[in-house]
Amino acid sequence: MKLKCGFFGAEPWTEGMRKELEEKLHIKAYDIYGLTEMCGPGVGGECEYQDGTHLWEDMFFPEIINPETLQPVAPGEFGELVFTSLCKEAMPIIRYRTRDLTRLIYDKCKCGRTAVRMDRILGRSDDMLIIRGVNVFPSQIEACLTEFPAFQPYYFITVDRKNNEDTFDLDIELRAELYTPDPKKQAEYVKPLFSQIVSMVGIKPNIRVLEPYGIERSMGKAKHVLDKRDFTK
Ligand SMILES: [Zn+2]
Repeated sequence: MKLKCGFFGAEPWTEGMRKELEEKLHIKAYDIYGLTEMCGPGVGGECEYQDGTHLWEDMFFPEIINPETLQPVAPGEFGELVFTSLCKEAMPIIRYRTRDLTRLIYDKCKCGRTAVRMDRILGRSDDMLIIRGVNVFPSQIEACLTEFPAFQPYYFITVDRKNNEDTFDLDIELRAELYTPDPKKQAEYVKPLFSQIVSMVGIKPNIRVLEPYGIERSMGKAKHVLDKRDFTK
């Protein structure tokens, strides 16, 4: 029997990763969304058009709020996803904060389903880094990386503060067959990635190319960030 499709959830993933999964596994890769507090996987899922995740609004009422003011945002704006369960009996949940940052798409879907769609998850409200005053989501770095096949999809961000200024180090790996310790040769690969990150995120990272397998591989949820700044000082 041939595998035709896969459903991927649990961690935010990008369109670049979808492309890679579909090309390498010869399947259609669909996004699925869920959280333990609501029902586990299946709070929403993508339809055949792969254009946003339909949320099952007859079971779970979704809202998007500003994570700082806790007020609802205007329709279509990004913010934190909040759910109220409509059918749960033993453990009803009212305005549960998921910490997932996304937006709701109210336009009619080509598939004909009327359930609202959720855009890709940008990150978590507690994952968001503020570096030099700019909001940075690790998922943005991941999205940039997947556009450059010379690099592995692994990365690690270290943020620190030196002389009252934030430092932003980004460790990445070239694919093993392309690895070179020569900084000049590395720069040929790094330059276009650097420009892409600057245009997407708005600040300049200090990119460091590690040796193959220099970034720790994780079996569960990957850890991507170390924030060494001490804001109590
Ligand atoms: Zn649809």
